[in-house]
Amino acid sequence: MPKILAVGEISNGVLKKASRETTSVGKRLGGAVDAILLGSGASAGVAELAKHGADTVYVGEISPYNGEAYAKAVVDVVKSKGYDIIILPHSWIGRDISARIATALNTGVISDATEISLEGDRVKIRKPVYSGKAFVNLKLKTSPQVVTIRPNAHPISEAAGAGKAETITVDASSAKAKEVKFEAKGGTRVPLTEADIVVSGGRGIKGPENFPLIEQLADLLGAGVGATRAVVDAGWCDHTLQIGQTGLTVSPTLYIAVGISGAIQHMAGMGSSKYIVAINKDPDAPIFKVATYGIVDDLFQVVPPLKEELKAALGR
Ligand SMILES: Cc1cc2nc3c(=O)[nH]c(=O)nc-3n(C[C@H](O)[C@H](O)[C@H](O)COP(=O)(O)OP(=O)(O)OC[C@H]3O[C@@H](n4cnc5c(N)ncnc54)[C@H](O)[C@@H]3O)c2cc1C
Repeated sequence: MPKILAVGEISNGVLKKASRETTSVGKRLGGAVDAILLGSGASAGVAELAKHGADTVYVGEISPYNGEAYAKAVVDVVKSKGYDIIILPHSWIGRDISARIATALNTGVISDATEISLEGDRVKIRKPVYSGKAFVNLKLKTSPQVVTIRPNAHPISEAAGAGKAETITVDASSAKAKEVKFEAKGGTRVPLTEADIVVSGGRGIKGPENFPLIEQLADLLGAGVGATRAVVDAGWCDHTLQIGQTGLTVSPTLYIAVGISGAIQHMAGMGSSKYIVAINKDPDAPIFKVATYGIVDDLFQVVPPLKEELKAALGR
């Protein structure tokens, strides 16, 4: 069996969901998995990762984030312990360090897997390409194999691991690039790429004064808020909410598309959602081709009573 290392993410002792996903995927692939956690309060995540099957968890205390130092710490562990497969989340950190890790190990990287399996000793991934119009299956010829997995696209599973913590040194003192200032966006909503439910608004909402309708529906469901490029370009909401080919890719369990036509470029960013609910007054809107459930009606007639029903049902 190949030796597998799952890379997790933690900040201020709060384990990111992606850490559970990489560890669960590693456990399912290999039968045995170790994990590495770098960040502030890293050791706080060890017990949690053991519940998903992690045997040894390497913990490195470091703050603020530094891509060079993170990547070097992973590479040092891979070289000294001899891992065959390294699994990272396809998050902004994972995207940053996976390429650095692969370069340092003189190997390749396959990224953004929505499906993953093992064929012999080779990892095989599948992911949508060309804005979701086709799928590609990829395998690496080189070793070790570096793979990133799409957040929210892989089930989290329970498995008992030994959860043995091993402290490692992470040193950013010789890094060529350093973080000068980190400005966190305000707000308490769940980050879009981690959200289990996403409520997204399109041009059908007519104007910025109606965007709160989307936000209120999202807040009732504890969901993330997204938007189409049309809405973002019009300045009706912040550009960080854009979902699609030139925005974020999300894979929630439930995606509620409100007043969204379903252009191919938008679907590139949400097509791997498990259930899609579309509210659109045009029965021929392309979004209905991918929707699990469709409501053909004026969103202004549908969303307000839906909010009231949800308030009553959820007791909020
Ligand atoms: C290179 C490139 C990259 C792009 N990248 C992205 C991207 O990352 N993300 C993205 O989203 N787009 C992207 N686009 C833009 C994309 O092609 C579409 O223009 C955009 O997604 C349309 O957004 P929309 O669905 O909000 O608007 P529209 O296409 O205008 O759709 C609005 C929908 O609202 C419905 N509607 C109107 N009024 C109501 C009502 N009262 N009740 C219910 N329904 C109503 C209409 O029937 C219509 O279907 C990109 C385009 C290009 C060329």
